[in-house]
Amino acid sequence: MPTKKKKEVILKGIPAAPGIACGPAFILDKQDVFIPSRIILEKEIPVEIARFEEALIKTREEILNIQRKISKEMGVRHAQIFDAHLLVLEDRTVIQEVIKNVKKQKFCVEYVFSQVMKKYAKVFAEIEDEYLRDRTSDISDVSKRVLKNLMGETKLHDLEELDEETIVVANDFSPSDTAGMYSKRILAFATDIGGRTSHTAIMAKSLGIPAVVGLKDATLKISNQDYVIVDGRKGLLIVNPSEKTHGKYNIERDKIEASRARFDDIKELPAETKDGRRVRIMANLEFPEEISTILTQGSDGIGLYRTEYLYMNRQELPSEEEQYKAYKYVAEKMAPLPVVIRTLDLGGDKFVSSIEFPAEMKSFLGWRAIRFCLGRPEIFKTQLRAILRASVNENLKMMYPMISGVCELREANALLQEVKDDLRKEKIPFNANLEVGVMIEVPSAAITADLLAKEAAFFSIGTNDLIQYTLAVDRTNEQTANLYEPGHPSVLRLIKQTIEAGKKAGIDVALCGEMSSEPILALLLLGLGLNEFSMSALNILQIKKLIRSIKYQDAKKIAQQAVELSTGDYVEEFLSMKLKKIAPHIYSARK
Ligand code: PEP
Ligand code: MG
Repeated sequence: MPTKKKKEVILKGIPAAPGIACGPAFILDKQDVFIPSRIILEKEIPVEIARFEEALIKTREEILNIQRKISKEMGVRHAQIFDAHLLVLEDRTVIQEVIKNVKKQKFCVEYVFSQVMKKYAKVFAEIEDEYLRDRTSDISDVSKRVLKNLMGETKLHDLEELDEETIVVANDFSPSDTAGMYSKRILAFATDIGGRTSHTAIMAKSLGIPAVVGLKDATLKISNQDYVIVDGRKGLLIVNPSEKTHGKYNIERDKIEASRARFDDIKELPAETKDGRRVRIMANLEFPEEISTILTQGSDGIGLYRTEYLYMNRQELPSEEEQYKAYKYVAEKMAPLPVVIRTLDLGGDKFVSSIEFPAEMKSFLGWRAIRFCLGRPEIFKTQLRAILRASVNENLKMMYPMISGVCELREANALLQEVKDDLRKEKIPFNANLEVGVMIEVPSAAITADLLAKEAAFFSIGTNDLIQYTLAVDRTNEQTANLYEPGHPSVLRLIKQTIEAGKKAGIDVALCGEMSSEPILALLLLGLGLNEFSMSALNILQIKKLIRSIKYQDAKKIAQQAVELSTGDYVEEFLSMKLKKIAPHIYSARK
């Protein structure tokens, strides 16, 4: 319950997933919260020092192993980044300071070590020389490894033990953090960094919980167990709300739940406009656990099956067999409805922390998605084999992420062909007519959509990326979040052009970015002639209701006018005004 004593503080961030949640905060601070600060007895000092030395040896072995592996698979240059980690690990000044402080302060070694490393990280962070300043991240990486070896458990493990209903507040969540959250009693997310389509936002929608991102320094302003309210529509985090504020939010939350329930009656009905245009409303799948929700939300299938979860929280890559079983399971559960598997999209903010990839992969403009797969054909072909084997379930389709032009598509298809040839030789069955589509999420792909349409079975527009690449705005950066405009005329032109190219070539065009679940934008996309909308399961009914409430001919006129407008703001205002007029019940439910 809210406290009377503490003052109410309102923090403003970026709305990332709608809804309202109230509850105690759980601060997930990667370094500080779970480090034990146990006082030790004199006789325990040698034990602590021995534990420390053991952890150093273990960490050194780990780093050397990773270095050898990376050097073999990616070349010596990539492996060199670990030299800096080894230097930090072997630094005599640090080691001696830790040993000295354990003896003097008589605290457990985890605590002493983390304090010493923090001190050094601070010194490095303040150095003017850029090269030396960048070593701060090496210090932090190494200290995490040593702590993990000392404690024999990771941070995520503690999060996994969460059994109280809480609002998790963090600097950010990595995909591997969120992978363990599906079965947890998490009421909402709030993060310091991130934008509207960052991984945290997508994950919150998939869990059906509200989220606010880009709060800048929320983790510093809130303490564990502070009572907080997350307002995911307005992007607010209210810390220690007054009784009055709490009461107001309770009423709002009940209203939202009631308006959601109002859509239940259309679950079994098709997504068809009043004048008979039928589109498909599909679900995006992050984790197989979502299937039961997807099946209850009246979806027409799965339009985006993100496969990255298979690669998370583990030291080794998933085997062909494991992947085959996972794909087969989803295909069978959804049959006869279609399932579109997206091949691996690692890199950018989909970073698998337990497998050591070069830092360069964290760049959205770098070695990501299909680029990574084409550069690591053995990883890619294992996935393709698993997908092909699962394709005996004929409801399965496949698409490649981040295709930038025809060459990449052909290169990927050539590998697919090799895999098909191998399977034929081995007499392993697969669907020879598996439909292979292309995600249109790089501007160059949208601009050459007419060329790609000749060689792809379908398109799926990935607006989360298309917007960031078109506007040169990092989708995860809260500083530039105001520039991330789905309604920007440039984005609309690329979408329009892609839909028209698909139509001309006679292939279906879907859209699986977050944009398809925003009612005002869905109205526009319908009018532009989109065939398929794919979104988090819990948004499906609202968009289906919208489609069933309007006429395609009206949406078409609205879209024609919207694409003529000169700014993203005008587009959003215009669409809001139209939605209010033609579907007031949807307009008010989204507010
Ligand atoms: C997109 O970019 O719109 C998309 C659906 O893919 P992801 O969010 O996984 O990059
Ligand atoms: Mg994408």
